[in-house]
Amino acid sequence: MAHLSDYDIRKQYFATVKKTRRLSPENTEEVREIIIELKDPAFECEIDQSFGVLLDHKDEFGNTLHHRLYSVADLPSKSKNKTRITMLVKRCNYVDAFSGEQQKGIASNYLCDRKVGDEIRITGPYPLPFSVPEDKESNLVLIGMGTGIAPFRAFIKHIYNNVKDWKGRILLFYGAQSGLELLYQNEIDDDLTNYYSEETFKAIHAFSPRPLWHDPVVLEQTIEERAEEIAEMLEVLNTYIYVSGHEKVKEGLDKAFAHVMGSQEKWEVRKAELIAGKKWVELIY
Ligand SMILES: Cc1cc2nc3c(=O)[nH]c(=O)nc-3n(C[C@H](O)[C@H](O)[C@H](O)COP(=O)(O)OP(=O)(O)OC[C@H]3O[C@@H](n4cnc5c(N)ncnc54)[C@H](O)[C@@H]3O)c2cc1C
Repeated sequence: MAHLSDYDIRKQYFATVKKTRRLSPENTEEVREIIIELKDPAFECEIDQSFGVLLDHKDEFGNTLHHRLYSVADLPSKSKNKTRITMLVKRCNYVDAFSGEQQKGIASNYLCDRKVGDEIRITGPYPLPFSVPEDKESNLVLIGMGTGIAPFRAFIKHIYNNVKDWKGRILLFYGAQSGLELLYQNEIDDDLTNYYSEETFKAIHAFSPRPLWHDPVVLEQTIEERAEEIAEMLEVLNTYIYVSGHEKVKEGLDKAFAHVMGSQEKWEVRKAELIAGKKWVELIY
């Protein structure tokens, strides 16, 4: 993936916050769904894209702008000259490795603090590293942890609402640390359940046994439990594996897929094939 400083930020747009609501429960890490509206017809955004959020911020290196990317998290809604885009934002707070002090992520805190009616500066859109394959027979294994589920939620809605007669199988693995797994799991938010009746779609929740503790996600185990089904999918050439989310999502994936394939060597060969065919693609941040 390109370095952030390589992204062209010359085209800038203003968007108004139309809706902002916390999705994750109060005593867990904050994740918000934020819906913004752009009135500029020049800004056209699709499901396999991200866009930038730009804010004025002076840092210790003399930079005066802070630019961060966010995935399109639902089908963009377009009417006349307006586009509405949904994003899922996790409020990032981290401990500075040098000072040991608690720091606030700049763009994510800025976004999570915005109120309805506030304006934000947008750049892009930019392509995501993966997209919905054109071949409707393609199988998709989508692994989206935390806010990494954002692009896949848009992909699944697009496949079943717009493409329609999708023939391939889709397995979505989702989950997170610290209660985030509750995202889209209640009556209002569980919009992925709309597709559970689709024969080709299965959403599998990688469940932490102690959701409010900082347990590692049990993704590895959850994938291993589905070994037979995934191995069958990996027998055919048009199977794609897309991985999205914070770096931690990658931990244990090779081990899990080695289990699926029956050995480390077999997985190494198959993974190299997938990578060469752009069928193993990661969006890691
Ligand atoms: C293509 C692309 C799409 C993205 N899509 C989304 C999205 O849909 N939703 C979303 O919330 N973020 C997304 N991100 C990440 C986002 O761009 C920012 O990196 C994130 O919001 C932190 O920015 P910040 O300015 O708040 O933090 P900064 O001020 O840049 O501080 C960054 C610090 O926070 C840590 N950090 C960054 N992300 C996380 C995380 N997820 N969990 C824990 N620590 C973290 C970093 O390691 C670093 O220490 C995406 C990134 C890319 C490259």
